[in-house]
Amino acid sequence: KLASREFQHKNTVVTVGNASFGGENIPVIAGPCAIESYEQLYQTAVSAKAAGAAMLRGGAYKPRTSPYSFQGLEKDGLEIMQAVGLKVGLPVISEVTDPRKVELIADYVDMLQIGTRNMQNFVLLKEVALTKKPILLKRGLSATIEEWLMAAEYILAGGNNQVVLCERGIRTYESYTRNTLDLSAVPVIKHVSHLPVIVDPSHGTGSWRWVNPMAKAALAAGADGLLIEVHPCPEEALSDGPQSLTPANFTQLMTELELLTAAL
Ligand code: PEP
Ligand code: MN
Repeated sequence: KLASREFQHKNTVVTVGNASFGGENIPVIAGPCAIESYEQLYQTAVSAKAAGAAMLRGGAYKPRTSPYSFQGLEKDGLEIMQAVGLKVGLPVISEVTDPRKVELIADYVDMLQIGTRNMQNFVLLKEVALTKKPILLKRGLSATIEEWLMAAEYILAGGNNQVVLCERGIRTYESYTRNTLDLSAVPVIKHVSHLPVIVDPSHGTGSWRWVNPMAKAALAAGADGLLIEVHPCPEEALSDGPQSLTPANFTQLMTELELLTAAL
């Protein structure tokens, strides 16, 4: 299998602008769950960059559980994201949920995200493979590591080897956290695959309180990067406010991660 260590012994390094996943550095992707306005994304980006974030995230096409929830600004959101990324000097990533939108979104962003709900949308996986853009492949809500790696295999087999895996928590019986962040997936993936693997403690826990400790635990487990939701005013966020860090809490986390990285 193309994703296996047997096929390729050397770690794959996926480069997006100045950020490299799988190399020496541990890039942090930060930003709101959803792009809500230019001001919202710009404020977040400025503070995230000052704190040391390597990439800016934000959803323009949101896969919401309820059809009555905010669905994203769509193309207007992509325009905001591209403008803010260029202005602040950060590469940008956004989620693609529909094979018909892959080309459009790829025109605006530096990396495409496949969300947890689409990990086994094989038509979509084949479509993003054709773009040659780096892909962030989140683990499915209830996917085994094997199923997740096979999803990555679709992208690799489609001719795109720029794949970064993202552990974002899986569904268990536990209800005190939104999902159960499976950090054991990190060393397991590093052992069986050459692909970089990052961790998203925001969706993994569902509460901003648990983001800081689990981000540190992820680095200790050997993660190649982090994805953290940050919002200038979480209580007013149109999606995932409860798990979003304020810019101040994000800055604090980045300071602590720096100390931890030096010790590892
Ligand atoms: C997101 O990153 O905002 C998102 C929807 O993530 P996930 O697919 O992991 O739920
Ligand atoms: Mn989110």
